[in-house]
Amino acid sequence: MYIQLPLGKYNVSFEALNLNPSIIKAIQDAGYTAPTPIQQQAIPELIAGHDVMASAQTGTGKTAAFMLPALNLLATPVKTPGRGPRILVLTPTRELALQVSEAAMKYGKYLPRIKVVSILGGMPYPLQNRLLSQPVDILVATPGRLIDHLQRGRIDFKRLQMMVLDEADRMLDMGFIEDVETIAAATPATRQTLLFSATLDDAINKVASKLLKSPKRIQVASQKSKLENIEQRLHYVDDLSHKNRLLNHVLGDEKLKQAIVFTATKRDADTLADNLYAQGHAVAALHGDMNQRERTRTLTRLRNGGLRVLVATDVAARGIDVPDITHVINFDLPKFAEDYVHRIGRTGRAGAEGIAVSFASQKDSTHLTRIERYTGQRIDAHTIPGLEPRFKPRFKGNGGKDTPSFGQKRKRSPSPFSANRDQRSFAVANEFGRNSNGQRVRGGGLDQNNRSNAFRNNSSGFKTTQYSSARGK
Ligand code: AMP
Repeated sequence: MYIQLPLGKYNVSFEALNLNPSIIKAIQDAGYTAPTPIQQQAIPELIAGHDVMASAQTGTGKTAAFMLPALNLLATPVKTPGRGPRILVLTPTRELALQVSEAAMKYGKYLPRIKVVSILGGMPYPLQNRLLSQPVDILVATPGRLIDHLQRGRIDFKRLQMMVLDEADRMLDMGFIEDVETIAAATPATRQTLLFSATLDDAINKVASKLLKSPKRIQVASQKSKLENIEQRLHYVDDLSHKNRLLNHVLGDEKLKQAIVFTATKRDADTLADNLYAQGHAVAALHGDMNQRERTRTLTRLRNGGLRVLVATDVAARGIDVPDITHVINFDLPKFAEDYVHRIGRTGRAGAEGIAVSFASQKDSTHLTRIERYTGQRIDAHTIPGLEPRFKPRFKGNGGKDTPSFGQKRKRSPSPFSANRDQRSFAVANEFGRNSNGQRVRGGGLDQNNRSNAFRNNSSGFKTTQYSSARGK
């Protein structure tokens, strides 16, 4: 259920990690056979009591990497009186907080009386007040709402042993770090502190230097290996109407089980969801203006297959873990390169192959370059017969690597890089399917000699892609 990464020198079993047998039993129930690399590296350090800062993204098994040692702490009772939390997990979003809470309950189900409470923005205060007046073991919270309760004296941190900052980079981006520091200041100095972040850059190091004590640094996977099971495709678009037609085509792909379509704004998410609904798609929007009940309902529908398409904004979709998401479509490119990785990581879950389709217009060239630089991977340009863009982007060298840029006039001949680009992209752009003998092959289920129908190199540097649409036939 996680993105497979090479184990390298770390090759240990869960049993060797000295976790409480009740936790091991719950892990076995979850069907995990071996710890992921982040778990193998982080768990021993955490059980030894060290502070840890780790760069690990969703999909690497990072939640269990901190939750298993946290539960391990809870397996031993403490003498400190009080009913406040022993573990505090801070997350940037409500969705992530709910997933962390679910993970705590899943891995802690055989430990006696573990009480997990989520304190999230957008939820009613009276219920939260009631939850906080009872004994709590694990408190999972978004910083803003937690501060409210803290200031009203409703939280007692005397028993707190461990504080986890999940997706700390995101909390930094969202302006939560001051709140996080205020919360940390209210906890005992003896606490163990864990920081998880997509990247460990200067800004994160600064936060860590204030909140962590001689932390062990753990770095698991480069962006590259994380994205290996996701095929990234780029479609150049002329305008909104072209985008809509392309989207329609991609959504018509019969291989698409479930998709998340990302838009730049909440309003666009609503509008697009309405349009797709009017066209007969099982679709809903998910964004920050919805109340918690609406969001939970939408996510449940997505999980149980009641929705085929979710139109979402970045923050709302962060952390969504639904194995049937075969496609992520960037209707609008994300503002931050890092969000691109988070977005496309919603597909290719559970070791499956995923397809990430991005639409880019002429004005997106800088964004695109930034994303490609961040991931270290080029996104291959594709066209769909009948839906080709009117403008022809130019491909130019960029540090030995050809990166698309824009602005080439229609008739200009392709740059020498484009041929090279074609060959390489042909090797990476694949669809899994079955051939006529029923064997699993790359190439959308076509036999090798038929592949050219699905992916045809052309002189413009594009590949022609067929989304195996029933409609197109
Ligand atoms: P995360 O990176 O925490 O979002 O986890 C991604 C997915 O990996 C979740 O669906 C987890 O249930 C799953 N997972 C976590 N640890 C393991 C493991 N050791 N083996 C298999 N799947 C795992």
